[in-house]
Amino acid sequence: MSDDGCVFCKIVRGEMEAKVVRDEDGVLAFHDIDGRAPVHVLVIPKEHVSSLAEIGRLPDGVAKRLFEVAQEVAEEEGVAESGYAFRINNGPDAGQEVFHLHAHVMGGERVRMP
Ligand code: IMP
Repeated sequence: MSDDGCVFCKIVRGEMEAKVVRDEDGVLAFHDIDGRAPVHVLVIPKEHVSSLAEIGRLPDGVAKRLFEVAQEVAEEEGVAESGYAFRINNGPDAGQEVFHLHAHVMGGERVRMP
């Protein structure tokens, strides 16, 4: 299912541009529009789920692929060896702004928790 007003669903549908680094069945990865690290990529399920509270709605295997694609993208972007943050802001208190589940992959410099 897709959500009409959701910015990440628009990217999935090709209605909004993004610097896509991975496009496969169930999972999309693209550069964050406001990169806050030398490498800052978002990995999302194509299916609209708002947060981890709904992760059980994802098709089989997609949740696992989010982790695997994060590692693969980190390797492709050259930050896997030095390390990177894999971070999900889940809900308002965590600072989630886009309510389509996504993981931040951030690296290329020392990344600290805020
Ligand atoms: P959150 O705070 O974890 O929800 O992070 C949302 C992220 O989405 C932020 O880092 C934004 O910069 C990023 N973002 C918002 N709109 C777009 C877009 O259209 N393309 C790429 N990244 C976006």
